[in-house]
Amino acid sequence: MMKDFKQSLLSVASLVIVLGTSAASHAQDDDFSHVEIETIPVAEDIYMLVGEGGNIGILAGEEGVFMVDNQFAPLTEKITDVIAAITPEPIRFLVNTHWHFDHTGGNENFGNAGTVIVAHDEVYARMSTDQFIQAFQLAFPASPPAALPVITFNDTVTFRLNGQTINIFHVEPAHTDGDSIVHFVEADVIHAGDIYFNGIYPFIDSDSSGGSVTGMIAATERLLALADEDTKIIPGHGPLSNRAELEAYLRMLVDVRLRTESAIAQGLTLEEFIASNPTADYDEALGRSFISPEQFQTIFYQDLAKQDLDI
Ligand SMILES: [Zn+2]
Repeated sequence: MMKDFKQSLLSVASLVIVLGTSAASHAQDDDFSHVEIETIPVAEDIYMLVGEGGNIGILAGEEGVFMVDNQFAPLTEKITDVIAAITPEPIRFLVNTHWHFDHTGGNENFGNAGTVIVAHDEVYARMSTDQFIQAFQLAFPASPPAALPVITFNDTVTFRLNGQTINIFHVEPAHTDGDSIVHFVEADVIHAGDIYFNGIYPFIDSDSSGGSVTGMIAATERLLALADEDTKIIPGHGPLSNRAELEAYLRMLVDVRLRTESAIAQGLTLEEFIASNPTADYDEALGRSFISPEQFQTIFYQDLAKQDLDI
């Protein structure tokens, strides 16, 4: 599945203006017909949908469907079919955890179908203007009006439907500068968005979308503070998770930050840092698919070195 995710990142290149050669060479791989949407029950009336791209969260009930993220546009019909098998009610609200295309690709389809799209102000700002993700050399033109959030917020917003209190809150720049966490309070379920990659090194979009290593750690600490041992955590990518796994993820982030800071303090260049194999003990488990160890180390080094200069 992780390999699928990497392929989906590259396959989407054909849907956008491609500037990078590595993406262009994969541009023919834009076929989503093989993707199946899997429904994973999380709690009463709450489901995680897994296909290609970011994990989707669904709250079903008589007051309508509340949805978190939506993967890629070619998957919208499959996703709505799966939701229709859960409940006959319409999809009323769609929350975007952040602007990235593997979480918002279906926005236009859902917007046109009458779903109210909700996101942080910064998601609107980025989706309504041209974007370029440096790490993948992918350019994205501004989204059409139907794809844009209709309701935006700058800090928190609370939904009350189907017996749930749903707190959505923005965190300081982490994976991007427009990240939100979605907390289904009574059900004790959290959708973490891309603050949490379970089982793989996370991507931190610090070059192009205002993300930050330190913010990623702070946001993960906030997630942890919401969770107890029974909490179900839907990560942005990877299998359904829990507090113990999230804690291990946080320890890894803090550990790698420390190693990177100490390398920078010793005067190592990025090349020397990578050559020192600084994440060897994590690479086997976390570095074999989406973000390679070298990419992960580069993200940490460049972001933390930049921070050093700011001080
Ligand atoms: Zn993302």
